Amino acid sequence: MKIPDIIIAVDGYSSAGKSTFARSLAAEFGFFYIDSGALYRCVTLFALENGFIHSDMSLDEGGLSRALPGLDLVFTQTDNMRESFLINGRPVGDLIRSLEISNSVSQISSLAFVRDYVNGILQPYGKKGRIVMDGRDIGTHVFPNAQLKIFMATSLEVRSQRRYEEQIAKGENVTLEEVTQNLSKRDYLDSHREISPLVRAEDSYLLDNGNMTVASSLAWVKGLIQGKFGILE
Ligand code: C5P
Repeated sequence: MKIPDIIIAVDGYSSAGKSTFARSLAAEFGFFYIDSGALYRCVTLFALENGFIHSDMSLDEGGLSRALPGLDLVFTQTDNMRESFLINGRPVGDLIRSLEISNSVSQISSLAFVRDYVNGILQPYGKKGRIVMDGRDIGTHVFPNAQLKIFMATSLEVRSQRRYEEQIAKGENVTLEEVTQNLSKRDYLDSHREISPLVRAEDSYLLDNGNMTVASSLAWVKGLIQGKFGILE
């Protein structure tokens, strides 16, 4: 199925399955997939490694704002839609997916200068279209003119169980309770921050995938795209 060179924004709550869905969608249409949350996670790793997040979770905001312009953050994508993120030339791998990073990322992403830094990396990708980007504010702030916006939401229980199983499969030593607490805290902080809070864009389509497989979510969105843009080929 061929579609116009559009921007597809996929927003929603933590662990709603956005990246799996967005990645499959990008693969389906030969679009570029961008995981905006990973960039906030990279900045958080940079802040932790450079001592800007203290052990009591307090933040050296001034230090981070001075150091951030010197951070060289790039990402590359392989053919199978897997991204590799590099902090000053060093691949970060799964380090950005740990619970430690998840516990600090919403504090870091609430800072205006961090959002400006990340948006400066994200926005150029919108010029040519043909991208699927997932995050929290893609349809509301990063690309308010995106031609297709999906908002993903499902219950905290379903999301926590999914994330817990993922973390365990990766060998992380976490409990379901810790994961649930992290997701509910991030949902709260992300939805209540002052700048670009997580809200559903008025012109977005709601996808509650609690009882859906990735294949059925994809079939749903393809139907939506056919209705909206027609089939070009
Ligand atoms: O998508 P993921 O869970 O990896 O995102 C990590 C965090 O990055 C979110 O909890 C949120 O604080 C932040 N984020 C954001 N805006 C985005 C994407 C992610 O604030 N567009």
